[in-house]
Amino acid sequence: MTKLRLAIVGAGPAGIYAADILLKAEKNFDVSIDLFEQLPAPYGLVRYGVAPDHPRIKGIITALREVLDTGRIRLFGNVLYGRDITLDDLKKHYNAVIFSTGAARDADLDIPGIDLEGSYGAAEFVSWYDGHPDVPRAWPLEAKEVAVIGNGNVALDVARILAKHADDLLPTEIPSNVYDALLASPVTDVHVFGRRGPMQVKFTPLELRELGELRDVDMIVHDEDFDYDEASKTAIASNKQVLVIDKVFTQWRAREAGTASRRLHLHFHAKPVEVTGDGRVEGFRYERTAPDGQGGVIGTGEIRELPVQAVYRAVGYFGSPLDEIPFDEKRGVIPNREGQVLDDSDHPLPGVYATGWIKRGPVGLIGHTKSDAMETIKHVVNDQANWWAPTHPDEQSVVDLLVERGVEFTDLSGWHRLDEHEKALGEPTGRARIKVVPRDEMVTVSRASH
Ligand SMILES: Cc1cc2nc3c(=O)[nH]c(=O)nc-3n(C[C@H](O)[C@H](O)[C@H](O)COP(=O)(O)OP(=O)(O)OC[C@H]3O[C@@H](n4cnc5c(N)ncnc54)[C@H](O)[C@@H]3O)c2cc1C
Repeated sequence: MTKLRLAIVGAGPAGIYAADILLKAEKNFDVSIDLFEQLPAPYGLVRYGVAPDHPRIKGIITALREVLDTGRIRLFGNVLYGRDITLDDLKKHYNAVIFSTGAARDADLDIPGIDLEGSYGAAEFVSWYDGHPDVPRAWPLEAKEVAVIGNGNVALDVARILAKHADDLLPTEIPSNVYDALLASPVTDVHVFGRRGPMQVKFTPLELRELGELRDVDMIVHDEDFDYDEASKTAIASNKQVLVIDKVFTQWRAREAGTASRRLHLHFHAKPVEVTGDGRVEGFRYERTAPDGQGGVIGTGEIRELPVQAVYRAVGYFGSPLDEIPFDEKRGVIPNREGQVLDDSDHPLPGVYATGWIKRGPVGLIGHTKSDAMETIKHVVNDQANWWAPTHPDEQSVVDLLVERGVEFTDLSGWHRLDEHEKALGEPTGRARIKVVPRDEMVTVSRASH
């Protein structure tokens, strides 16, 4: 029987779901899958993006782990495509490759002052609090007043982690250095700014409601933002999510002024204009907008400014190009048609596929990467005539290649070892786990039996 030797690059949910769907798909060939991941641990943004105080979502890892544990997928962690393994290598060893490398960096926000000291991208901060090995371990939490730009779930994650008292994060898996830094944070006011109105937000009701439940944090919204236009009223009447969001705001607006030591302010109709300061952030300037009647906004020319000492922009993630693979610089994705990667003339590149955020762009929940993967796998299965013809298809030869290159790769049993190690670290203090952050320590623990 024909055998498909498939490489998947990126062990986030998209890559793991793609492997699972392929293994379960009806097909007239055998399959052997190798999953390459640049980090020593799998699960992508589920481990390094989803907030630590969202254990239910982090729990998706259990389902992803079940897929890896079927024993039908080999994991090669700590292997970076483009450095440790190249497209030529993949062509020698596999019939096809799926790229599921996600999107890890911040989209740009082009306003004056955005590069001042004290102005950060949300992705950097998220990577820090989630213990990503490739970001600095120290984070300057010196600001009393902070601006968070953006109206999606990531903006709310960032605002919540900044405003929440560190002790309320202690039961989660936050690394110790993150707890220590948050404990010492002098923050009193976190201001979240959205360009559009409260009925045009991108965040979900659950994430919003959660903010109102934070201990010793008052939610502040402003009546002037709730003068709904027809488009907002229609949205409330026709969309259940929007209706729930409106209810949450209505409850908050009816609350008495609080006495909490920290405040989380939501400002709508506030278009970022400038981050001000002499060398470092001292303020945030924005233009008041007004509804345009069609669900959008127009500038009013009225400029306001708030003193802040730090700015976090949460205006979206962006994908990164991969060696020898076409890239759409505008959208930050690999150009593709239903997961078939396209060359410059829009023709499918034989043997090369994409799935997840690098295919579709950085929007949508973990569950969406499943439907993505289904679409991509359909093409992998049906494109048999276009698969590559590898010269070294045996499973051992790629292992030999990595060993020969001195790549200190980790495998699935290594991940189990690290997983157990992290749980053991948490045990004495009753925590579910304490993440190991330094890459070399992750690799050492994972490779302990090599
Ligand atoms: C801050 C944040 C919070 C979120 N919270 C939620 C939530 O609460 N609920 C929810 O459903 N969704 C949430 N999401 C969305 C969710 O994380 C994504 O939908 C999902 O992770 C996308 O999956 P992916 O596999 O495409 O990408 P990723 O999860 O990013 O995985 C890509 C993997 O590829 C690896 N990789 C990249 N480049 C290379 C290379 N050159 N070589 C080898 N490996 C490489 C990366 O290390 C990574 O492990 C959140 C996203 C963010 C950013």
